[in-house]
Amino acid sequence: MQDDSLGPKDKIILDPVLKSAKMQLSMTQTMASAAGRSMSIKPEVIRPVGETELLITWSDGHRSLYHFGHLRFYCACAGCVDEITGRRKLKSQEVPENIRLLKMEEVGHYALKFHWSDGHQTGIYSYEYLRSLCRCRCCHTYQGDANGES
Ligand SMILES: [Zn+2]
Ligand SMILES: [Zn+2]
Repeated sequence: MQDDSLGPKDKIILDPVLKSAKMQLSMTQTMASAAGRSMSIKPEVIRPVGETELLITWSDGHRSLYHFGHLRFYCACAGCVDEITGRRKLKSQEVPENIRLLKMEEVGHYALKFHWSDGHQTGIYSYEYLRSLCRCRCCHTYQGDANGES
């Protein structure tokens, strides 16, 4: 019985500590994201890794590894995304599991165009968009936190 009444009190004492720890964390993340949003970020090295992934080394030193299927799915062309509603028309199961990247082209110093083995080649991926698709622990933790805490 006595233990029970101590429990909630403990929580009240702990709470401010948790809050300040969280604030510190979000400050660090805000700084990291501000650095990542610099306009001049461009891919410096783009190379396929094996048969299924693409590695981009960015001008700020960040490295992003993309699975071809992930990149193909996030194509933002009018064929894959409804231009009016912004809804993705493409379903993830419509992307072939063994999709390959046949060719890529630079578009006007701001984007990349990929030619996929399923015949699709209309999507243009701006560097900013590509960077936002990065799934590394650093970028992904930030996005997850922003969505989870509202
Ligand atoms: Zn598309
Ligand atoms: Zn990243």
